[in-house]
Amino acid sequence: MAQLIFADSLSRLGTESAFEVLARAQKLAAQGKDIINLGIGQPDFRTPEHIVEAGIKALRDGAHGYTPANGLPALREAVCADLNRRHGVEVNPDNIVVVPGGKPTMFFAVLMFGQPGVEIMYPNPGFPIYESVIKYSGATPVPIALEEKNGFAFSAEAVLAKITDRTRLIIINSPANPTGGVTPKEEIDKLVKGLLDHPHVALMSDEIYSNMLYGGREHTSLLQYPEIRDRLIMLDGWSKTYAMTGWRLGYAVWPDSMVDAVTRLCINDHSCVNAATQHAGIAALRGPQDAVREMVAQFDARRQVIVDGLNALPGFRCADAAGAFYAFPNIEGTGMTARQAQDRFLNEAGVATVAGTSFGAWGEGYLRFSYANSTENIVEALRRIRELL
Ligand code: PLP
Repeated sequence: MAQLIFADSLSRLGTESAFEVLARAQKLAAQGKDIINLGIGQPDFRTPEHIVEAGIKALRDGAHGYTPANGLPALREAVCADLNRRHGVEVNPDNIVVVPGGKPTMFFAVLMFGQPGVEIMYPNPGFPIYESVIKYSGATPVPIALEEKNGFAFSAEAVLAKITDRTRLIIINSPANPTGGVTPKEEIDKLVKGLLDHPHVALMSDEIYSNMLYGGREHTSLLQYPEIRDRLIMLDGWSKTYAMTGWRLGYAVWPDSMVDAVTRLCINDHSCVNAATQHAGIAALRGPQDAVREMVAQFDARRQVIVDGLNALPGFRCADAAGAFYAFPNIEGTGMTARQAQDRFLNEAGVATVAGTSFGAWGEGYLRFSYANSTENIVEALRRIRELL
């Protein structure tokens, strides 16, 4: 019988509960239960056809080998053209590092700075992988509390007040998972200004939902602040915008001082991203953007249905969801904890959601509903929950 002794760090690694909820929902569905999945954070659309075709063509044309570790030059150039189009900024393709999805950038950024004795700030409630990998690195996670009363936007003043000599990295995310919150430009201006007094602090801005803002809101990219470019890691990718979660394709803009280190992490970890996927990524950025506009318009219509529907449920209160494709209602009035509500809605109503506590301690009293599902299913899910309540 083997008696294995694993590294201590392994016990500090967290997970993303949305995947566990997905597994439970699939198990119930396999048993014949009718499950509506509002748990998982991925578009319910297919990848647009011209992107799929580009991937297939690349395979047929022989794109079967390794590519440069940081990504195909043509892909990195397409990323820079897209950043120019969307954010009006100039970026050198040498500062782009293409990775398999959004997640590797956050893992590498945290590995680059995290070690015992240092502090890394992250949004809470927030994407669970931030806290997980900070703990894994041995660094101390310092939560940035996101509150409903501020529309789940971070307060620059609160973030700046928490900076110490040990702070190495601050992670921000707007539009945000799980809250749908969008931080207004004024707060970002204040954060950037304040950071100038703390030159030892790097910033990672997770902008993976930057194409999904509603109600006339516009995205503010941290790339638009030249004064912090030398310490900014800007994370984005194809998963959400082009409905490409399973292709595994993402990128970040890295400052000159970090490009070599992150490229070395890529070489040690995955060598390069799947070559055909990279060709599909070029087609996504260079091709027509109608499918993106259409998908965002559909999310917006569903958003209005779900926010109104949640606000009409007894014990629920739902803030306006400004971006991404999540609604994050307060459910304290139901008398249930977040976890109890998640379990009862799944087991008794056949509706998969994710407890707010899966996104950090500040998520207690909230549930995440992904509206990446048809309006018909959203309406039916709301009906079932109402009946249960
Ligand atoms: N960042 C945020 C805020 C997310 O919500 C997600 C996915 O849910 C990611 C990054 C990771 O995306 P990917 O699937 O491309 O790794």
